[in-house]
Amino acid sequence: MIRYNLICQSDHEFEGWFSSSADYDAQAASGLLCCPICSTSKVEKAIMAPSVKTARKAEAQAVDAAKAMAAMAAKIREGISKTCENVGSNFAEEARAIHYGEKPERGIYGSVTPPETQALKEEGIAAHPLPDVFVPGADKKKLN
Ligand SMILES: [Zn+2]
Repeated sequence: MIRYNLICQSDHEFEGWFSSSADYDAQAASGLLCCPICSTSKVEKAIMAPSVKTARKAEAQAVDAAKAMAAMAAKIREGISKTCENVGSNFAEEARAIHYGEKPERGIYGSVTPPETQALKEEGIAAHPLPDVFVPGADKKKLN
């Protein structure tokens, strides 16, 4: 037995079971198929449902993945805000002071200008770009 999703000329959708696709063709050709709602025999196979379900499932999975990513980013932001100090635009200065032992070693984050980034790199001071989404408070920033 095979199942077809059928649709009548008035867009009523219903299911029909047939022993084969030839059985469906024969019933359709002889006008035996009719809509259970309006009784018309103007009935044809509907676009198969599984493709619709698959698209919806993919969409739901994409939403789940986006939620998981947002949750992960939130955890990273939380971790950074707990373990690192926000030194803002003084990052290069602070990183240099920590590197040369003038300040206690600790995790810091902040902003640097491209020339500062280059200078830190030349001095062998470890600094890694932090994606905006991982910066503590990024979720609270207004989108302008
Ligand atoms: Zn109908």
